[in-house]
Amino acid sequence: MRVLVCVKRTADGELNPFDACAYEAALQIPDSEVILLSMGPDKTEEMLLDLTRLGAKEAYLLCDNAFAGADTLATAYALSCAVKKLSPDLVICGRQTVDGDTAQTGPSLSVMAGLTLIPNVMKILRTEGKLICETRELGEKTVDYPALITVERINRLRLPSIRSKKGTVIHWTAEDIDADKQKCGLKGSPTRVLASFPNKEGKRKCKWIEARELPAVIEEGLAKEKTRLQPAKKSNALLKDIWIVGEGPRLFAESISEDITVIEKERFWQKGDTCLDFALKFAEYARERQPKVILWASDAWSKAAAPQVAALLQTGLCADCTALETDGEELFMYRPAFSGNIVAKIVCMTEPRMATVRTARKGSGEIICALGKGAQNVLADVQTLVQKRNAWNAEKNGVTAGKTGPPERKHGVTAETARWDIAASRMAVDAEMLPYDKQVGLTGKSVNPAVYIAVGISGAVHHIAGMKQSGTVIAINPDREAPIFDYADYGIAGKAEEVIGYLQ
Ligand SMILES: Cc1cc2nc3c(=O)[nH]c(=O)nc-3n(C[C@H](O)[C@H](O)[C@H](O)COP(=O)(O)OP(=O)(O)OC[C@H]3O[C@@H](n4cnc5c(N)ncnc54)[C@H](O)[C@@H]3O)c2cc1C
Repeated sequence: MRVLVCVKRTADGELNPFDACAYEAALQIPDSEVILLSMGPDKTEEMLLDLTRLGAKEAYLLCDNAFAGADTLATAYALSCAVKKLSPDLVICGRQTVDGDTAQTGPSLSVMAGLTLIPNVMKILRTEGKLICETRELGEKTVDYPALITVERINRLRLPSIRSKKGTVIHWTAEDIDADKQKCGLKGSPTRVLASFPNKEGKRKCKWIEARELPAVIEEGLAKEKTRLQPAKKSNALLKDIWIVGEGPRLFAESISEDITVIEKERFWQKGDTCLDFALKFAEYARERQPKVILWASDAWSKAAAPQVAALLQTGLCADCTALETDGEELFMYRPAFSGNIVAKIVCMTEPRMATVRTARKGSGEIICALGKGAQNVLADVQTLVQKRNAWNAEKNGVTAGKTGPPERKHGVTAETARWDIAASRMAVDAEMLPYDKQVGLTGKSVNPAVYIAVGISGAVHHIAGMKQSGTVIAINPDREAPIFDYADYGIAGKAEEVIGYLQ
């Protein structure tokens, strides 16, 4: 099988970590012929040459001034021209890049290159005949070849052996791949960054508390949750003709318009349909009706469907917006960039202007107890506590018939009806304390529970990126200078071992 892996050299000169996983996944497919494809400046060649030592004999580098300044649509277009020329059976992309952080290029590329998409792959289960993969949120998926998958951080890229030889890197220009230069680089990019600012979002004023106050602030966080999701600030002038896909983006839509149409995804999507089936029908309807703006939620399904629709409509899509604004004519979209360190103000030059907006994620608990490297000694206690509370809740709500009885309450956390979940920092996952699907952050998942209790987590920007939308944040760490306290409403300066008992 011919497997093509798309890899990017990120802004800091490293191989994008998700692409490293994509490459390793390709190398693990039996009897595969692996080739690499990248778009970037000349200096990408060095990275590609090093990577060929691991197994791919050939790497292709799309390198031409015409490609410079490309947004995700123009990037996907250039890659699609190369993919068509190389005609692989399978294309593997990383879920997202850690600098661009949109997760759009893979899904858009799949449409443009005519490949069936499986997004957010956690495990490749079978490659003979049909392709079967386990995904993060959409269950098990089976598709025919040619296909494209985007992978999560599911493995570690192997190291080269001392005797391994370098392969070749072939440079391709826009002409070499028969690309229309009008669709490449800045010229072919419908989105434009107008300005960028330091990101202050997520910073909170930390109030220091004693460990014994923990139950009370958890209760308070749960009570506050009811008023947390308030409508965003309304613009003075408003836009007309906004579509929202599902109810998820409503609050964002209401901040820029009173003329909102809800399109339920079920209208174009039956059980068993692929995301592409939906995208084709939806795009045709949008072409007929010509809405001005289409807003999508940020669940896994929307984040796969929206880039496919954008590719079909040849329009710009701004990912993960945290705010929208309008002057009555233009739509201004704000999104965090570069690991969340800055916020970019973006416009879209084509219609419909599209955006995915940060909406609440379903599925995680209302109280998340997240464990970092410093919580090693309390892992078992927290696992037992979460499991007991959830078992008791299920019993009380009639979901299970058992005789667990209420968990022992030592210090008075009465949050018995709330769903609890456990999460992890990347260090905790790397130390094999918890599995990867529990990892919160830039290379994990985003969560927004009512209460987030960070135990033994230092608070690196990469972790903050995944939890800063939580309701109330409580941090437990003996190091008062740990950055996590800048993102917490309440701080307990103490060791996890001494504090965790107060959760009971
Ligand atoms: C490209 C990239 C992507 C990344 N993606 C992610 C991501 O998605 N998610 C993520 O989490 N990280 C991610 N990281 C890693 C991130 O930069 C940090 O290294 C990581 O978050 C640190 O994990 P930690 O806080 O558990 O460990 P550490 O930074 O080691 O912090 C441990 C903390 O525990 C405290 N501690 C020690 N003993 C105790 C005790 N007894 N009780 C309580 N506290 C104690 C210490 O004071 C310290 O603050 C990424 C990094 C890169 C480069």
